[in-house]
Amino acid sequence: MNNENQARLRVAIQKSGRLSEQSQEVLKNCGLRFARSKDKLFWYGRDFPVDLLLVRDDDIPRLLLDGVCELGIVGENIAWEVMLDRGREDGLERLSPLGFGHCRLSIAVPEQSGITDIKELDGVRVATSYPALTHNLLQKSGVEAEISELSGAVEIAPSMGTADAISDLVSTGTTLRANHLKELQVLFRSEAALYSRTGDLGREKQALIDLLISRLNGVMQARASKYVMLHAPKDALEKITELLPGVEYPSVMPLEGSDRIAVHAVCGETVFWEHLEALKAAGASAILVLPVEKMLA
Ligand code: ATP
Ligand code: ZN
Repeated sequence: MNNENQARLRVAIQKSGRLSEQSQEVLKNCGLRFARSKDKLFWYGRDFPVDLLLVRDDDIPRLLLDGVCELGIVGENIAWEVMLDRGREDGLERLSPLGFGHCRLSIAVPEQSGITDIKELDGVRVATSYPALTHNLLQKSGVEAEISELSGAVEIAPSMGTADAISDLVSTGTTLRANHLKELQVLFRSEAALYSRTGDLGREKQALIDLLISRLNGVMQARASKYVMLHAPKDALEKITELLPGVEYPSVMPLEGSDRIAVHAVCGETVFWEHLEALKAAGASAILVLPVEKMLA
């Protein structure tokens, strides 16, 4: 595969921060291996023609739009901020959500504030690191706030007296509570996703992207799936099959010298304790739940 004239892809991921570890992990699970360079900003793809560029997350959409990289892993919040900042709602294409980096962009006000509805934010000072996204979403609710951009420490703006409300990323709400702020309304829900720029990338690069996405789908599907093995009475098979989440056709094997059977199945949905308890109540025993590493449909 290491033909010098062969097309290569560049993938931009966050160098260090909330998304960096899981971005590396998901690419590793797709079978990509990298030779790390000394400065650690460029990792050369070893046995697959895909290289990595490690950058600040805010720079990723721009690198895609400028054609420096073909793919990038970034929060939807950043992708939308950059698109809207250019006055557009396109330019970047979300190829696949990745199931990590979940957060929400929320409007929050001081606990003592008289503001109880975002409709009351008309003409009010709102501090945020996401001015374009906040402006766009408030405007869609018919609100014209006075938005001021801050690159960090947005949550302290109200107590500093420089804003009456904030629009900030929240995951657990701990930071808001620590700053005596209450969440008024969620404006936008975000997770990390694989992005490319819209438009033709050429046949060879597109073929590599398609292959990578097919592997990525396998990784995502495997992550949600579990392999379940159990023993059950023969006459409980129908009931047991109904109780296995996301299973239509399990493998069924006789257990020598017993009126019980062994049932094996790949569950396509999350297997909760409640499922296992219901299976046990239906007569199942020796229930084992195993992770699925890779899957190719
Ligand atoms: P960089 O140095 O790369 O610019 P950063 O400080 O801007 O890093 P992080 O705090 O690492 O970025 O957040 C990266 C992304 O993680 C966010 O853009 C968002 O998509 C996601 N994220 C998930 N939960 C949160 C949260 N509670 N607060 C902020 N971002 C979050
Ligand atoms: Zn950033």
